[in-house]
Amino acid sequence: MSGRLHYPAGMSAPEPDPQRMEAVVALCKRRGFVFPSAEIYGGFRSTYDYGPLGVQLLRNVKEAWWRSMVQLRDDVVGLDAAILGPPDIWRASGHLATFTDPLVDCRSCQQRWRADHLEPAEDGKVHCPSCGSTDLTEPRDFNLMFKTHTGPVAEEGSVAYLRPETAQGMFVNFKNVLQTTRKKPPFGIAQVGKSFRNEITPGNYVFRTREFEQMELEFFVPPADAPKWFDHWVDERHRWYVDLGIPEDQLRIRPHDPEELSHYSAGTSDIEFLFPFGWGELEGIANRTDFDLKAHAAASGESLDYFDQAANERYVPYVIEPAAGATRSMMAFLVAAYDTDEIGGEARTVLRLHPRLAPYKVAVLPLSKKEALTPLAREVLGLLQPRLVCDYDDTQSIGRRYRRQDEVGTPLCVTVDFDSLEDRAVTIRDRDTTEQVRVPIDALGKEVVDRLAG
Ligand code: ATP
Repeated sequence: MSGRLHYPAGMSAPEPDPQRMEAVVALCKRRGFVFPSAEIYGGFRSTYDYGPLGVQLLRNVKEAWWRSMVQLRDDVVGLDAAILGPPDIWRASGHLATFTDPLVDCRSCQQRWRADHLEPAEDGKVHCPSCGSTDLTEPRDFNLMFKTHTGPVAEEGSVAYLRPETAQGMFVNFKNVLQTTRKKPPFGIAQVGKSFRNEITPGNYVFRTREFEQMELEFFVPPADAPKWFDHWVDERHRWYVDLGIPEDQLRIRPHDPEELSHYSAGTSDIEFLFPFGWGELEGIANRTDFDLKAHAAASGESLDYFDQAANERYVPYVIEPAAGATRSMMAFLVAAYDTDEIGGEARTVLRLHPRLAPYKVAVLPLSKKEALTPLAREVLGLLQPRLVCDYDDTQSIGRRYRRQDEVGTPLCVTVDFDSLEDRAVTIRDRDTTEQVRVPIDALGKEVVDRLAG
Protein backbone atom coordinates (compact mmCIF):
# COMPACT_ATOMS: atom_id res chain seq x y z
CA MET A 1 0.00 0.00 0.00
CA SER A 2 2.99 2.30 0.03
CA GLY A 3 3.43 2.78 -3.69
CA ARG A 4 6.20 5.35 -3.55
CA LEU A 5 9.37 4.96 -5.51
CA HIS A 6 12.19 4.78 -2.98
CA TYR A 7 15.83 5.74 -3.15
CA PRO A 8 18.13 4.76 -0.27
CA ALA A 9 20.16 7.48 1.46
CA GLY A 10 23.04 8.60 -0.73
CA MET A 11 21.50 7.18 -3.88
CA SER A 12 19.81 9.57 -6.25
CA ALA A 13 16.88 8.70 -8.45
CA PRO A 14 17.99 7.02 -11.67
CA GLU A 15 17.58 9.10 -14.80
CA PRO A 16 14.04 8.55 -16.06
CA ASP A 17 13.98 7.23 -19.62
CA PRO A 18 10.64 8.34 -21.07
CA GLN A 19 11.73 7.45 -24.60
CA ARG A 20 12.25 3.81 -23.69
CA MET A 21 8.86 3.75 -21.99
CA GLU A 22 7.20 5.35 -25.02
CA ALA A 23 8.89 2.85 -27.35
CA VAL A 24 7.63 -0.12 -25.29
CA VAL A 25 4.11 1.29 -25.02
CA ALA A 26 4.02 1.98 -28.77
CA LEU A 27 5.24 -1.54 -29.55
CA CYS A 28 2.59 -3.01 -27.24
CA LYS A 29 -0.14 -1.13 -29.07
CA ARG A 30 1.22 -1.67 -32.58
CA ARG A 31 1.74 -5.40 -32.22
CA GLY A 32 -1.29 -6.27 -30.08
CA PHE A 33 0.13 -6.78 -26.61
CA VAL A 34 -1.90 -4.21 -24.71
CA PHE A 35 -4.83 -2.02 -25.77
CA PRO A 36 -6.47 0.77 -23.78
CA SER A 37 -9.74 -0.71 -22.57
CA ALA A 38 -12.99 0.44 -24.24
CA GLU A 39 -10.88 2.39 -26.71
CA ILE A 40 -13.70 2.96 -29.19
CA TYR A 41 -15.49 4.84 -26.39
CA GLY A 42 -12.42 6.92 -25.62
CA GLY A 43 -10.83 4.51 -23.13
CA PHE A 44 -11.72 3.75 -19.53
CA ARG A 45 -9.67 5.19 -16.67
CA SER A 46 -6.28 3.47 -16.77
CA THR A 47 -7.84 0.12 -17.64
CA TYR A 48 -6.21 -2.11 -20.23
CA ASP A 49 -7.07 -5.13 -22.36
CA TYR A 50 -4.47 -7.74 -23.24
CA GLY A 51 -4.42 -8.41 -26.97
CA PRO A 52 -3.49 -11.57 -28.88
CA LEU A 53 0.20 -11.35 -27.97
CA GLY A 54 -0.30 -9.82 -24.52
CA VAL A 55 -2.60 -12.61 -23.41
CA GLN A 56 0.05 -15.16 -24.41
CA LEU A 57 2.83 -13.28 -22.63
CA LEU A 58 0.75 -12.78 -19.50
CA ARG A 59 -0.27 -16.46 -19.47
CA ASN A 60 3.40 -17.41 -19.81
CA VAL A 61 4.38 -15.19 -16.87
CA LYS A 62 1.69 -16.80 -14.72
CA GLU A 63 2.59 -20.27 -15.99
CA ALA A 64 6.29 -19.72 -15.21
CA TRP A 65 5.31 -18.65 -11.69
CA TRP A 66 3.01 -21.66 -11.21
CA ARG A 67 5.67 -24.00 -12.54
CA SER A 68 8.30 -22.78 -10.09
CA MET A 69 5.98 -22.30 -7.10
CA VAL A 70 3.63 -25.32 -7.41
CA GLN A 71 4.66 -27.81 -10.08
CA LEU A 72 8.33 -28.12 -9.09
CA ARG A 73 7.66 -28.28 -5.33
CA ASP A 74 5.98 -30.93 -3.24
CA ASP A 75 5.29 -28.53 -0.38
CA VAL A 76 2.93 -26.16 -2.22
CA VAL A 77 -0.62 -26.75 -3.50
CA GLY A 78 -2.83 -24.50 -5.61
CA LEU A 79 -6.16 -22.78 -5.06
CA ASP A 80 -8.59 -20.64 -7.03
CA ALA A 81 -10.85 -18.81 -4.59
CA ALA A 82 -13.80 -16.49 -5.28
CA ILE A 83 -13.25 -12.86 -6.18
CA LEU A 84 -16.42 -11.70 -4.41
CA GLY A 85 -16.37 -11.95 -0.64
CA PRO A 86 -18.56 -11.03 2.32
CA PRO A 87 -17.62 -8.11 4.62
CA ASP A 88 -16.77 -10.68 7.36
CA ILE A 89 -13.56 -11.62 5.57
CA TRP A 90 -12.44 -8.04 5.13
CA ARG A 91 -13.43 -7.01 8.64
CA ALA A 92 -11.35 -9.83 10.12
CA SER A 93 -8.39 -9.24 7.81
CA GLY A 94 -8.27 -5.57 8.75
CA HIS A 95 -8.95 -4.34 5.23
CA LEU A 96 -12.21 -2.58 6.10
CA ALA A 97 -10.47 -0.56 8.78
CA THR A 98 -6.99 -0.08 7.39
CA PHE A 99 -6.78 -0.74 3.64
CA THR A 100 -6.69 2.95 2.97
CA ASP A 101 -4.55 5.50 1.26
CA PRO A 102 -4.41 9.12 2.42
CA LEU A 103 -6.24 11.29 -0.09
CA VAL A 104 -5.99 15.03 -0.61
CA ASP A 105 -8.19 17.17 -2.86
CA CYS A 106 -6.99 20.21 -4.73
CA ARG A 107 -9.54 22.94 -3.99
CA SER A 108 -8.47 24.77 -7.11
CA CYS A 109 -8.78 22.13 -9.85
CA GLN A 110 -10.69 19.43 -7.88
CA GLN A 111 -8.14 16.71 -8.72
CA ARG A 112 -7.41 14.07 -6.11
CA TRP A 113 -3.96 12.85 -5.09
CA ARG A 114 -2.36 10.38 -2.75
CA ALA A 115 -0.87 12.47 0.05
CA ASP A 116 2.08 10.07 0.39
CA HIS A 117 2.97 10.62 -3.28
CA LEU A 118 3.35 14.39 -2.88
CA GLU A 119 6.67 15.86 -1.78
CA PRO A 120 7.11 19.49 -0.69
CA ALA A 121 8.62 21.69 -3.41
CA GLU A 122 11.67 23.95 -2.91
CA ASP A 123 9.44 26.55 -1.23
CA GLY A 124 8.65 23.93 1.44
CA LYS A 125 5.00 23.72 0.36
CA VAL A 126 3.12 20.85 -1.26
CA HIS A 127 1.74 21.84 -4.66
CA CYS A 128 -1.00 20.19 -6.73
CA PRO A 129 0.87 18.28 -9.50
CA SER A 130 -1.80 19.34 -11.99
CA CYS A 131 -2.40 23.07 -11.45
CA GLY A 132 0.37 23.97 -8.99
CA SER A 133 -2.01 25.31 -6.33
CA THR A 134 -1.08 24.91 -2.67
CA ASP A 135 -4.75 25.00 -1.65
CA LEU A 136 -5.03 21.31 -0.77
CA THR A 137 -7.34 19.67 1.78
CA GLU A 138 -6.01 17.81 4.82
CA PRO A 139 -5.40 14.10 4.05
CA ARG A 140 -8.44 11.84 4.51
CA ASP A 141 -8.39 8.05 4.58
CA PHE A 142 -9.88 6.51 1.47
CA ASN A 143 -10.66 2.76 1.43
CA LEU A 144 -9.34 1.10 -1.71
CA MET A 145 -11.81 -1.77 -1.83
CA PHE A 146 -14.54 -1.91 -4.48
CA LYS A 147 -17.89 -2.37 -2.81
CA THR A 148 -20.86 -3.94 -4.55
CA HIS A 149 -24.10 -5.78 -3.75
CA THR A 150 -25.11 -9.36 -4.39
CA GLY A 151 -28.70 -10.07 -5.42
CA PRO A 152 -31.37 -7.66 -6.59
CA VAL A 153 -31.62 -5.44 -3.52
CA ALA A 154 -28.86 -3.03 -2.67
CA GLU A 155 -29.23 -3.27 1.11
CA GLU A 156 -26.72 -3.52 3.94
CA GLY A 157 -27.10 -7.31 4.19
CA SER A 158 -26.14 -7.84 0.55
CA VAL A 159 -22.84 -5.94 0.61
CA ALA A 160 -19.88 -7.72 -0.97
CA TYR A 161 -16.36 -6.66 -1.83
CA LEU A 162 -14.13 -7.46 -4.77
CA ARG A 163 -10.96 -8.88 -3.28
CA PRO A 164 -8.07 -6.41 -3.09
CA GLU A 165 -5.59 -9.29 -2.76
CA THR A 166 -5.83 -13.03 -3.35
CA ALA A 167 -4.24 -13.85 0.02
CA GLN A 168 -7.39 -13.99 2.13
CA GLY A 169 -8.75 -16.85 -0.02
CA MET A 170 -5.82 -18.93 1.18
CA PHE A 171 -6.37 -18.09 4.86
CA VAL A 172 -10.10 -18.81 4.86
CA ASN A 173 -9.41 -22.14 3.11
CA PHE A 174 -6.52 -23.08 5.39
CA LYS A 175 -8.53 -25.74 7.22
CA ASN A 176 -10.04 -27.18 4.01
CA VAL A 177 -6.63 -27.53 2.43
CA LEU A 178 -5.03 -28.95 5.58
CA GLN A 179 -7.76 -31.61 5.87
CA THR A 180 -7.93 -32.57 2.22
CA THR A 181 -4.23 -32.67 1.38
CA ARG A 182 -2.78 -33.86 4.71
CA LYS A 183 0.02 -31.30 4.27
CA LYS A 184 1.96 -30.24 7.36
CA PRO A 185 3.83 -27.00 7.97
CA PRO A 186 6.06 -26.01 6.31
CA PHE A 187 3.69 -26.00 3.34
CA GLY A 188 2.12 -23.39 1.12
CA ILE A 189 -1.03 -22.50 -0.82
CA ALA A 190 -0.56 -20.66 -4.10
CA GLN A 191 -3.03 -18.66 -6.12
CA VAL A 192 -3.04 -16.58 -9.29
CA GLY A 193 -5.90 -14.29 -10.11
CA LYS A 194 -7.47 -10.90 -10.44
CA SER A 195 -7.51 -8.38 -7.63
CA PHE A 196 -9.13 -4.97 -7.54
CA ARG A 197 -8.12 -1.74 -5.84
CA ASN A 198 -9.74 1.61 -6.31
CA GLU A 199 -6.34 3.30 -6.68
CA ILE A 200 -6.50 7.07 -6.33
CA THR A 201 -3.76 7.66 -8.86
CA PRO A 202 -3.38 4.71 -11.23
CA GLY A 203 -0.74 5.19 -13.88
CA ASN A 204 2.59 4.39 -15.43
CA TYR A 205 0.82 2.20 -17.95
CA VAL A 206 -0.03 -1.23 -16.45
CA PHE A 207 2.23 -0.64 -13.43
CA ARG A 208 -0.68 0.60 -11.35
CA THR A 209 -4.22 -0.22 -12.46
CA ARG A 210 -7.47 -0.72 -10.61
CA GLU A 211 -7.93 -4.23 -11.94
CA PHE A 212 -4.78 -6.35 -12.03
CA GLU A 213 -3.51 -9.88 -11.55
CA GLN A 214 -1.55 -11.19 -8.62
CA MET A 215 0.50 -14.32 -8.01
CA GLU A 216 0.59 -15.01 -4.29
CA LEU A 217 1.90 -17.75 -2.04
CA GLU A 218 0.97 -18.13 1.61
CA PHE A 219 3.61 -20.40 3.14
CA PHE A 220 2.66 -21.73 6.60
CA VAL A 221 5.57 -22.49 8.93
CA PRO A 222 6.27 -23.24 12.60
CA PRO A 223 6.69 -19.79 14.21
CA ALA A 224 10.33 -20.36 15.16
CA ASP A 225 11.21 -21.12 11.53
CA ALA A 226 9.68 -17.95 10.09
CA PRO A 227 12.95 -15.96 9.75
CA LYS A 228 14.64 -18.83 7.92
CA TRP A 229 11.75 -19.22 5.47
CA PHE A 230 11.54 -15.47 4.94
CA ASP A 231 15.17 -15.47 3.75
CA HIS A 232 14.51 -18.55 1.62
CA TRP A 233 11.62 -16.90 -0.20
CA VAL A 234 13.40 -13.58 -0.76
CA ASP A 235 16.25 -15.51 -2.44
CA GLU A 236 13.95 -17.79 -4.42
CA ARG A 237 11.84 -15.00 -5.74
CA HIS A 238 14.80 -12.82 -6.69
CA ARG A 239 16.29 -15.76 -8.58
CA TRP A 240 13.01 -16.30 -10.46
CA TYR A 241 13.21 -12.86 -12.11
CA VAL A 242 16.91 -13.30 -12.91
CA ASP A 243 16.38 -16.78 -14.36
CA LEU A 244 13.69 -15.36 -16.64
CA GLY A 245 16.02 -12.75 -18.04
CA ILE A 246 15.87 -9.60 -15.90
CA PRO A 247 19.48 -8.35 -15.52
CA GLU A 248 20.56 -8.44 -11.87
CA ASP A 249 21.64 -4.80 -11.90
CA GLN A 250 18.06 -3.81 -12.76
CA LEU A 251 16.73 -5.54 -9.64
CA ARG A 252 17.16 -4.74 -5.98
CA ILE A 253 15.82 -5.97 -2.67
CA ARG A 254 14.57 -3.23 -0.41
CA PRO A 255 13.63 -3.97 3.23
CA HIS A 256 10.73 -1.84 4.48
CA ASP A 257 11.36 0.80 7.11
CA PRO A 258 9.47 0.01 10.35
CA GLU A 259 6.95 2.85 9.81
CA GLU A 260 6.21 1.56 6.31
CA LEU A 261 5.20 -1.97 7.38
CA SER A 262 1.63 -3.14 6.81
CA HIS A 263 -0.52 -3.77 9.88
CA TYR A 264 0.04 -7.54 9.69
CA SER A 265 3.75 -7.60 8.95
CA ALA A 266 6.75 -8.32 11.18
CA GLY A 267 9.08 -7.69 8.25
CA THR A 268 8.75 -7.07 4.52
CA SER A 269 11.25 -6.84 1.70
CA ASP A 270 10.28 -5.65 -1.75
CA ILE A 271 11.86 -6.84 -4.96
CA GLU A 272 12.10 -3.76 -7.15
CA PHE A 273 12.84 -3.30 -10.83
CA LEU A 274 14.41 -0.29 -12.46
CA PHE A 275 11.49 0.85 -14.63
CA PRO A 276 12.12 3.69 -17.11
CA PHE A 277 10.41 5.99 -14.56
CA GLY A 278 12.48 4.77 -11.56
CA TRP A 279 12.59 1.88 -9.11
CA GLY A 280 9.19 0.25 -8.64
CA GLU A 281 7.97 -2.74 -6.64
CA LEU A 282 7.43 -6.05 -8.44
CA GLU A 283 6.77 -8.10 -5.38
CA GLY A 284 6.67 -7.91 -1.60
CA ILE A 285 7.83 -10.76 0.63
CA ALA A 286 6.24 -10.40 4.06
CA ASN A 287 6.37 -12.20 7.36
CA ARG A 288 2.63 -11.97 8.11
CA THR A 289 3.12 -13.78 11.45
CA ASP A 290 -0.03 -15.55 12.73
CA PHE A 291 -2.05 -12.36 12.27
CA ASP A 292 -4.42 -13.59 9.57
CA LEU A 293 -5.14 -17.11 10.84
CA LYS A 294 -5.73 -15.79 14.37
CA ALA A 295 -7.96 -12.99 13.12
CA HIS A 296 -10.12 -15.36 11.02
CA ALA A 297 -10.24 -17.92 13.83
CA ALA A 298 -11.46 -15.26 16.27
CA ALA A 299 -14.02 -13.84 13.84
CA SER A 300 -15.38 -17.12 12.48
CA GLY A 301 -15.18 -19.28 15.60
CA GLU A 302 -13.32 -21.99 13.62
CA SER A 303 -9.98 -23.08 14.98
CA LEU A 304 -7.27 -22.42 12.42
CA ASP A 305 -4.35 -23.99 14.18
CA TYR A 306 -2.23 -27.04 13.57
CA PHE A 307 -1.57 -30.01 15.84
CA ASP A 308 1.94 -31.33 15.43
CA GLN A 309 1.62 -34.95 16.52
CA ALA A 310 5.35 -35.65 16.62
CA ALA A 311 5.98 -32.76 19.01
CA ASN A 312 2.56 -33.14 20.71
CA GLU A 313 2.12 -29.42 20.27
CA ARG A 314 -0.68 -27.20 18.95
CA TYR A 315 0.21 -23.90 17.33
CA VAL A 316 -1.00 -21.28 14.87
CA PRO A 317 1.46 -21.26 11.96
CA TYR A 318 3.28 -18.14 10.89
CA VAL A 319 2.92 -17.15 7.26
CA ILE A 320 5.62 -16.06 4.83
CA GLU A 321 4.00 -14.41 1.83
CA PRO A 322 5.70 -13.72 -1.48
CA ALA A 323 3.09 -11.53 -3.25
CA ALA A 324 3.84 -10.61 -6.85
CA GLY A 325 1.94 -8.78 -9.56
CA ALA A 326 1.50 -10.68 -12.82
CA THR A 327 0.62 -7.67 -14.93
CA ARG A 328 3.35 -5.55 -13.34
CA SER A 329 5.94 -8.31 -13.82
CA MET A 330 4.85 -8.70 -17.42
CA MET A 331 5.60 -5.02 -17.93
CA ALA A 332 9.04 -5.43 -16.33
CA PHE A 333 9.85 -8.40 -18.57
CA LEU A 334 8.82 -6.36 -21.61
CA VAL A 335 10.89 -3.34 -20.59
CA ALA A 336 13.95 -5.48 -19.80
CA ALA A 337 13.64 -7.40 -23.08
CA TYR A 338 13.26 -4.36 -25.33
CA ASP A 339 16.36 -3.80 -27.44
CA THR A 340 17.47 -2.30 -30.74
CA ASP A 341 20.44 -3.31 -32.84
CA GLU A 342 21.58 -3.40 -36.44
CA ILE A 343 21.49 -6.40 -38.75
CA GLY A 344 23.22 -6.07 -42.12
CA GLY A 345 23.21 -2.30 -41.80
CA GLU A 346 19.49 -2.22 -41.02
CA ALA A 347 18.06 -1.16 -37.66
CA ARG A 348 15.89 -3.69 -35.93
CA THR A 349 13.80 -3.82 -32.79
CA VAL A 350 14.04 -7.06 -30.87
CA LEU A 351 12.34 -8.30 -27.74
CA ARG A 352 14.90 -10.53 -26.07
CA LEU A 353 12.27 -12.38 -24.07
CA HIS A 354 13.16 -15.62 -22.32
CA PRO A 355 11.80 -18.48 -24.49
CA ARG A 356 9.52 -19.55 -21.65
CA LEU A 357 7.85 -16.12 -21.77
CA ALA A 358 7.85 -15.45 -25.51
CA PRO A 359 4.27 -15.33 -26.87
CA TYR A 360 5.22 -17.46 -29.89
CA LYS A 361 8.01 -19.99 -29.51
CA VAL A 362 8.35 -20.65 -33.23
CA ALA A 363 7.19 -18.96 -36.43
CA VAL A 364 6.78 -21.18 -39.49
CA LEU A 365 7.53 -19.17 -42.62
CA PRO A 366 7.20 -20.56 -46.13
CA LEU A 367 9.82 -18.71 -48.19
CA SER A 368 7.21 -17.60 -50.68
CA LYS A 369 3.47 -17.64 -50.93
CA LYS A 370 3.69 -20.02 -53.90
CA GLU A 371 1.22 -22.85 -53.57
CA ALA A 372 3.88 -25.51 -53.97
CA LEU A 373 5.30 -24.66 -50.51
CA THR A 374 2.03 -24.50 -48.60
CA PRO A 375 1.43 -28.23 -47.94
CA LEU A 376 4.92 -28.83 -46.55
CA ALA A 377 4.87 -25.61 -44.50
CA ARG A 378 1.49 -26.64 -43.06
CA GLU A 379 2.91 -30.09 -42.31
CA VAL A 380 5.79 -28.50 -40.38
CA LEU A 381 3.33 -26.31 -38.49
CA GLY A 382 1.21 -29.38 -37.67
CA LEU A 383 4.30 -31.09 -36.32
CA LEU A 384 5.19 -28.27 -33.91
CA GLN A 385 1.78 -26.90 -32.95
CA PRO A 386 0.72 -29.64 -30.51
CA ARG A 387 3.82 -28.94 -28.40
CA LEU A 388 4.45 -25.23 -28.86
CA VAL A 389 2.56 -22.02 -29.49
CA CYS A 390 3.45 -21.17 -33.10
CA ASP A 391 2.77 -18.42 -35.58
CA TYR A 392 2.37 -18.98 -39.32
CA ASP A 393 3.10 -16.14 -41.69
CA ASP A 394 3.34 -16.20 -45.47
CA THR A 395 2.95 -12.49 -46.18
CA GLN A 396 5.65 -10.03 -47.32
CA SER A 397 9.36 -10.65 -47.86
CA ILE A 398 11.18 -13.13 -45.64
CA GLY A 399 13.40 -10.34 -44.24
CA ARG A 400 10.38 -8.34 -43.12
CA ARG A 401 8.81 -11.41 -41.59
CA TYR A 402 11.98 -12.08 -39.58
CA ARG A 403 11.85 -8.48 -38.31
CA ARG A 404 8.20 -8.87 -37.35
CA GLN A 405 9.00 -11.97 -35.34
CA ASP A 406 12.07 -10.35 -33.72
CA GLU A 407 9.90 -7.43 -32.65
CA VAL A 408 7.51 -9.69 -30.72
CA GLY A 409 10.27 -11.87 -29.28
CA THR A 410 9.78 -15.14 -31.20
CA PRO A 411 12.98 -17.09 -30.40
CA LEU A 412 13.00 -19.27 -33.53
CA CYS A 413 11.83 -19.00 -37.12
CA VAL A 414 11.56 -22.10 -39.30
CA THR A 415 11.72 -21.39 -42.99
CA VAL A 416 10.43 -23.80 -45.60
CA ASP A 417 11.97 -23.20 -49.03
CA PHE A 418 11.95 -24.87 -52.44
CA ASP A 419 14.91 -27.12 -51.51
CA SER A 420 12.79 -28.39 -48.60
CA LEU A 421 10.53 -30.07 -51.17
CA GLU A 422 13.54 -32.11 -52.33
CA ASP A 423 15.57 -32.72 -49.16
CA ARG A 424 12.83 -32.52 -46.49
CA ALA A 425 14.99 -30.13 -44.49
CA VAL A 426 14.19 -26.63 -43.20
CA THR A 427 16.17 -23.64 -41.92
CA ILE A 428 16.04 -22.63 -38.27
CA ARG A 429 16.90 -18.98 -37.59
CA ASP A 430 17.82 -17.78 -34.10
CA ARG A 431 16.33 -14.45 -32.95
CA ASP A 432 19.31 -13.29 -30.91
CA THR A 433 22.24 -14.36 -33.09
CA THR A 434 20.30 -14.40 -36.41
CA GLU A 435 22.33 -17.54 -37.22
CA GLN A 436 20.69 -20.07 -39.50
CA VAL A 437 21.10 -23.85 -39.58
CA ARG A 438 19.60 -26.49 -41.83
CA VAL A 439 17.77 -29.31 -40.04
CA PRO A 440 15.93 -32.39 -41.40
CA ILE A 441 12.20 -32.15 -40.75
CA ASP A 442 12.36 -35.52 -38.97
CA ALA A 443 14.73 -34.03 -36.37
CA LEU A 444 13.00 -30.64 -36.17
CA GLY A 445 10.81 -31.27 -33.11
CA LYS A 446 13.71 -32.31 -30.91
CA GLU A 447 16.03 -29.61 -32.25
CA VAL A 448 13.48 -26.87 -31.56
CA VAL A 449 12.68 -28.11 -28.06
CA ASP A 450 16.41 -28.42 -27.23
CA ARG A 451 17.14 -24.93 -28.50
CA LEU A 452 14.25 -23.41 -26.55
CA ALA A 453 15.37 -25.19 -23.39
CA GLY A 454 19.03 -24.31 -23.91
P1 ATP B 1 2.18 -0.61 -4.19
O1 ATP B 1 3.10 -0.22 -3.05
O2 ATP B 1 2.84 -0.50 -5.53
O3 ATP B 1 0.83 0.00 -4.12
P2 ATP B 1 1.57 -2.86 -2.58
O4 ATP B 1 2.76 -2.89 -1.68
O5 ATP B 1 0.31 -2.31 -2.09
O6 ATP B 1 1.95 -2.17 -3.98
P3 ATP B 1 0.96 -5.61 -2.37
O7 ATP B 1 -0.28 -5.42 -1.60
O8 ATP B 1 2.17 -6.13 -1.67
O9 ATP B 1 1.33 -4.29 -3.17
O10 ATP B 1 0.62 -6.52 -3.63
C1 ATP B 1 1.54 -7.43 -4.18
C2 ATP B 1 1.86 -7.09 -5.62
O11 ATP B 1 0.68 -6.88 -6.39
C3 ATP B 1 2.66 -5.80 -5.81
O12 ATP B 1 4.03 -6.03 -5.59
C4 ATP B 1 2.39 -5.49 -7.27
O13 ATP B 1 3.24 -6.23 -8.13
C5 ATP B 1 0.97 -5.96 -7.43
N1 ATP B 1 0.06 -4.81 -7.36
C6 ATP B 1 -0.42 -4.22 -6.24
N2 ATP B 1 -1.23 -3.18 -6.56
C7 ATP B 1 -1.24 -3.14 -7.93
C8 ATP B 1 -1.91 -2.28 -8.87
N3 ATP B 1 -2.73 -1.33 -8.49
N4 ATP B 1 -1.68 -2.51 -10.19
C9 ATP B 1 -0.87 -3.51 -10.60
N5 ATP B 1 -0.23 -4.34 -9.76
C10 ATP B 1 -0.41 -4.17 -8.44
